[in-house]
Order: sequence, then C-alpha cells, then structure tokens
Amino acid sequence: GLGGGGSGSMTIVPGTAPGFPPFETKQGGEIVGFDIDLLSAVVSNTDYELESWKDFEFSSLTPALKNDKIDVIAAAMTINEKRDESIDFTNPYYSADQAVLVRKGASSPPSEFAGLAGRTVGVQEGTTGASVVEKQLVKPGKIAQSKFNTYGNYVLAVEDLVNRNLDAVVLDTPVARTFVDRRAVTIAATYETGEKYGFGVRTDADDLTKALNDGLKQVRNGSKYEEIRDEWFAG
Ligand code: GLN
Repeated sequence: GLGGGGSGSMTIVPGTAPGFPPFETKQGGEIVGFDIDLLSAVVSNTDYELESWKDFEFSSLTPALKNDKIDVIAAAMTINEKRDESIDFTNPYYSADQAVLVRKGASSPPSEFAGLAGRTVGVQEGTTGASVVEKQLVKPGKIAQSKFNTYGNYVLAVEDLVNRNLDAVVLDTPVARTFVDRRAVTIAATYETGEKYGFGVRTDADDLTKALNDGLKQVRNGSKYEEIRDEWFAG
C-alpha cells in the first residue's frame, strides 16, 4: 500500500473485522457493509485507489495498521484517547452508544446497565463495549472475572447468548439493533457513551488522512452518505 508502483495512482489496502453487521459482514465469502461502501465512496473522491480488503479480528486491526499490513481501518472503530495515542483517525462518520442485549423473553432482564451485576456477560475483545463492562462492573467486583467472557467477534458472542451460555452481550447500539432484527434477542437497556466512529490511519500518513477527510466531507455534503446509510440501515 501507499505506493503506486510507478503507475501514477496511489493504492491503499483497507482492513476490517467482519462480524459487526451492518458495518461489515461476510456474505457468500465477500466482505460487505456500510463501512465498505462508505470508504469506497470516500476514496473515490481522492487520488487514492483501494486494493482488496483484508480481514482480521477487531483486536488485530491496530497492530496490522502499524505493521503496514493495511493502510486504513474501516471497522466501526470508536475514536478515543487511548487509541489516538498509537494511531490517527479521520473525522467522525457515525455515532453510537452501548446496548445490553438479552434473549427475547428472558426472565428478569436488567433494566439498566448496572443491573448486569452478578450476571454472565459477553463482549468482543478489544472493543469499547469490553472496556466499559470491565471498568464499570468487573474491576469494582460486580461481575466475577469468570463471568466476563470475551470473543473474537460479536457473532460468536450473540450465538452464545442465544444458546443460553450468557445472560447478556454488551455492544454498540446500531449493531445490537441489527442482531435484534436477525436473532431471538432484544435490547434490555442502553448505556450512553456518545462514541464516534472514524477511519484509522497511521500517524505518519497525514496526506492520506487529509485526503480521506476531504473525501468524507464530499460524501456527507452530497446525497451519497444518506444513500449508503439507507441501504444498510433500512427498516
Ligand atoms: N465501536 C466499538 C469499538 O470501537 C466496536 C467496534 C467493532 O467491534 N468493530 O470498540
């Protein structure tokens, strides 16, 4: 990536973590989703060209970026101070909070985030959902470490929830809503975090960051952003 091989156009390798619908999922072996379409639209407004997508587990994306295996992360990644210490982010392109997902018809589901105390909770490794549960509930001893389960992706966590191995899964609100549409699960409570997603780039790639921000601005000013959003968040 980040070279043109003398062809004149600069190519970039995008990386994502499928298993986070509707932002990125695999459909018949192909990676598709809101992030995929949005980044393509953004890059089409720049002098860069996208190479094929590479997929990783979410927690491996930042190392992959830093080791030059990919040039940009498009994975519904929340911009936060901790991550900002090791990578850069574009301007935000989507907002989210955290949701407590439980089985449909579960008896006495938690009516608020704090109600997760004493329950068995699943999260995806390396996410903001994992850190909020850890900070608010595991560290203060409200959930035993043995009842705090981390998964490589949220599809596996939701599977364990449906199979009654978990009482709840904590994850980003838009993704929780997508699972509600697809599985026998429901949102019992939400926890306001006011997260904002950005594309991740290396700290030394200022030209790329600037180009992506310009491209994103054009996508948002026109009708393209709404088009892509309506396609992936319809109904
Ligand atoms: N937005 C959350 C985070 O950044 C979850 C992202 C994801 O699982 N793809 O941690």
